[in-house]
Amino acid sequence: MANIDPWVVHKFGGSSVADADCFRRVATILDSVQAPRLGVVQSACRGVTDALLRLVSLAERQDESYRSEIAALRTRHATIAETLLTPDSARLYLAGFDRDCHDLAGILHTVKLTRQAAHNVVDLIAGYGEIWSTKLFHRFLEERGSRRGPVQWVDARRVIVVEWGPLGPGIQWGESRSNLQDLVDRDFKGTLVITGFIASKRNGVQTTLGRNGSDFSGSIFGALLDAAEIVIWTDVDGVLSADPRRVPDATVIDSLSYNEAMELAYFGAKVIHPQTMAPAVGGGIPIWIRNTFAPEKIGTLICATPKSKLPVKGITSIERVALINLEGAGMIGVPGTAHRLFGALREEDISVILISQGSSEHSICCAIPQEQAERAAAIVRHAFERELKEGQIQNVDVDPDLSILAVVGDGMAGTPGIAGKVFSSLGTSNVNVRAIAQGASERNISVVIEGRHATRALKAVHASLYLSPHTISIGLIGPGTVGRVMLEQIASQRIRLREEFKLDLRIRGLLGSKRMLLADSDLDLRNWRSQYDDSPVPSDLKRFVEHVQTDYLPHTVLLDCTASAEIAKHYPQWLESGIHIVTPNKKANSADLAFYRRLREARHSGSSHYLYEATVGAGLPVIQTLRDLRETGDEITSVEGIFSGTLAYLFNVYDGKTPFSDIVRDARQRGYTEPDPRDDLSGTDVARKLIILGREMGLGLEMSDVKVESLVPAGLETGSIDEFMTRLPQYDAAMRQRYENARARGKVLRYVAKVTADGQASVGLAELDLKHAFANIALTDNVVRYATQRYSNNPLIVQGPGAGPEVTAAGVFADLLRIAAYLGARL
Ligand code: ADP
Ligand code: ASP
Ligand code: MG
Repeated sequence: MANIDPWVVHKFGGSSVADADCFRRVATILDSVQAPRLGVVQSACRGVTDALLRLVSLAERQDESYRSEIAALRTRHATIAETLLTPDSARLYLAGFDRDCHDLAGILHTVKLTRQAAHNVVDLIAGYGEIWSTKLFHRFLEERGSRRGPVQWVDARRVIVVEWGPLGPGIQWGESRSNLQDLVDRDFKGTLVITGFIASKRNGVQTTLGRNGSDFSGSIFGALLDAAEIVIWTDVDGVLSADPRRVPDATVIDSLSYNEAMELAYFGAKVIHPQTMAPAVGGGIPIWIRNTFAPEKIGTLICATPKSKLPVKGITSIERVALINLEGAGMIGVPGTAHRLFGALREEDISVILISQGSSEHSICCAIPQEQAERAAAIVRHAFERELKEGQIQNVDVDPDLSILAVVGDGMAGTPGIAGKVFSSLGTSNVNVRAIAQGASERNISVVIEGRHATRALKAVHASLYLSPHTISIGLIGPGTVGRVMLEQIASQRIRLREEFKLDLRIRGLLGSKRMLLADSDLDLRNWRSQYDDSPVPSDLKRFVEHVQTDYLPHTVLLDCTASAEIAKHYPQWLESGIHIVTPNKKANSADLAFYRRLREARHSGSSHYLYEATVGAGLPVIQTLRDLRETGDEITSVEGIFSGTLAYLFNVYDGKTPFSDIVRDARQRGYTEPDPRDDLSGTDVARKLIILGREMGLGLEMSDVKVESLVPAGLETGSIDEFMTRLPQYDAAMRQRYENARARGKVLRYVAKVTADGQASVGLAELDLKHAFANIALTDNVVRYATQRYSNNPLIVQGPGAGPEVTAAGVFADLLRIAAYLGARL
């Protein structure tokens, strides 16, 4: 009677068998496998296949150091054997190993002489790793005795027969099955330890299943043994939504269809070999991907009908790709061009990864591995020699250093808008798309992009499909009063923003006037102050910006919390390079008109955002309100108000009794004025704000167009602060006179700024009715009044605290979040 216990096959990759501890871990995992019939397919120890292939290149270059590399391989295996095996067993194992080394040295000697190794020689050498690792593990498992039944070593070269064809290794199922039956008893109840990766050709010559082929071996044995399941053990928790080395937030996909897994694998998800699926599909065998280093985790299930209904399962990329582009009006409507193109490439063994043709048939392009690009171009030029000469085809271009990014998922077919999200996220992160292909199955959307943008693109698309948070790389310039509060505010909201809105704000650099602090991933905001104070790195704006705008994060924002004109000068260049800027610094927007226009253009050419709400009225929505009015079609007649908290305070407090100079002194002591009160009293700061608003209204105003009434008495403009403060009382009488004159008319004094639609702009002291809105504001409030066509009789007023680090930082923060929303975060 046939044995009714089904087989299970477990495959362990190189990362799972790197050293003696790893072998123990694998054995422990196998101890818990209940199935009495177990096939264990193993890779070479981590890095050994690479090392073996290196031996070949050394010998080809006639570099004798291959000998010491063989010795190193021996030492590595000997250490594991001596740790895990009894001395006798280890000795026997090493005796076999030495025979292999002897053969290997002989083969390499020949390679050294002939300077070139034939395919079959390379395959033979590459395959030693699996033989060494499985023989060792076989002995270990046998001695350990923890599994029931015998432990048998199986040399896959004696089982798997392949014929290499254009699609890779074709398994000869009939022969392979009968080979296995010859080797393993029908009733065998125990454990097989099987070499991964290697196989034989029909003529008996050794071959391999291609790099990473042990996964394929696992599923071939799964099919040959009619296994109930195949478990592929590796060093990650399963198939992840993206390569974890590039998208650290990638998450484990709980289940995938065979097709999805194959597509992901083909497009670069190295965790599983694409051909692994074929034998399993035939037998309907489920494949699990699990973590040897975290066996308690459940892993990913790949099967015919997965439970997960997520439309997008993962995003992958293929690096080092070139595009070959064939272009010409002569191709339109001419049948057979594609056939000739791909026929020519096929004949020369060039694998085409992706094809894209516009419906006009004016151009056709395909992506191929970069190494083959030049050869491919030559072949194509040759194939279309006549058309090129006669001008029907203009060009055969090669575009190198590209990557393909593929978004994969069965459910995309029924879910509109996925392609839209993919492309808009690429757009907002400034990634240029060179070619697009979508399979008719709609299981895969592939885009060809510049190679250096690949990580950034992966992150951006991953985030836009809500597979991971939107990550923004932030550099803060000027960690002074506002900057410091800004960092506190971000620190207090960061976790919430991440959890609720999937927004990951990373402060990756602080730049002051003397020093800067750079962080690779993210600054620890709990102790940024001491880190910054201790930073030995001197300020270097260029280096700072290059660091913050890294290629592997999709979006960069610079927060300029200075008041520096020097920093502001760089805005156009930053915006052009795609950096977003948020700032309370008025210098850029109030600089000369030519510069202002450059700023606007730079924003367009870099598709970047520049927000500066905090330049007027700190956190109050002054600029946004103005923008909303204009964008909704309202016509602004005038904007006026009190734009200086300091001046608001001085005139709110001044009652004609206490001398004006005393009030200035007191305000200065309370920190309500700039260190030099003339900066406030001169009205220049207010004029800058007025210019910003005027330009926002669409007026081409220069600072010189603003009529400014300075409150700095004539003659006191220069000289030290002390001197100014000492001499200010001499003017108290004049100020008092103005106050009394106004009072006599039932009015109060206020420092008001106003700009009208016809370009009149002024700032200065005005006499206002006691009932006027500006006459009744709290101490340091700002107030802005918009007279518009819609708000004509009863103007719109925005009023509230308009100065101070907290509200200013909050204004900057709000702008930062607005940018995040523009970039796709769901706030
Ligand atoms: P093994 O040695 O077990 O065969 P590999 O190194 O061949 O392991 O494959 C596992 C690695 O694949 C992981 O460590 C991970 O870095 C990488 N990888 C790339 N893309 C993905 C993905 N989408 N999901 C999981 N792992 C991935
Ligand atoms: N050892 C082989 C390789 O490194 C096969 C494998 O590990 O899957 O390519
Ligand atoms: Mg692998």
